[in-house]
Amino acid sequence: MSNTKKLRPRLLIVSGPSGVGKGTLLKRVAAESGLPIVMSVSATTRTPRPNEKNGTHYHFLTDKQFQEKRNAGEFLECFEVFGKGIWYGTLRKEVESGLNDGKLVVLEIDVKGAMSVKKQFPDAITIFVEPPNIDTLKERLRGRGTESDEAMQNRLNTAIEELNHAHEFQKRIVNDNLDTAVKQFINAINN
Ligand code: 5GP
Repeated sequence: MSNTKKLRPRLLIVSGPSGVGKGTLLKRVAAESGLPIVMSVSATTRTPRPNEKNGTHYHFLTDKQFQEKRNAGEFLECFEVFGKGIWYGTLRKEVESGLNDGKLVVLEIDVKGAMSVKKQFPDAITIFVEPPNIDTLKERLRGRGTESDEAMQNRLNTAIEELNHAHEFQKRIVNDNLDTAVKQFINAINN
């Protein structure tokens, strides 16, 4: 029998277009996998949605606050995700504190951010969540009703662009049936 014990992954990077259902999927995975998952709370300069709490969904920052943190090197990665002007970034301290607590730290970030973190943490697992097709994604984005027409168009354009990078990820999961996607996701982390 081999005595090489398989090490549990420490960092999980999840990308996929806005509206694909990453949030719902990750909640189920956290509840059902039995793994000590902690979500890294990103910083952003976008306006909070009505249901969003500062410090829980994001650290909502002004442009000035964000750039100060950026200049101080507090971000592991940061990018303008939907064209110019709206920044998102992973705070080093979020990742470090989760890793120090022995957790599996999950980053739900865009493709550019994912590739940047993977370079810095080569052992991280990368998973890309895809919609069954682009029409489903459009419907989900519209159904959410949280974005203006312009913001939605921006998100769709970014989604199409991001789908072209899906092959750069170690695992790809199609979020068609949620139960199936949850199972595939948990398998992907454990294998
Ligand atoms: P939303 O505005 O819908 O909350 O997030 C939109 C997208 O921003 C997400 O799908 C995710 O890909 C990206 N995002 C969220 N946080 C970060 C982050 O810290 N860094 C990067 N690079 N992208 C992020």
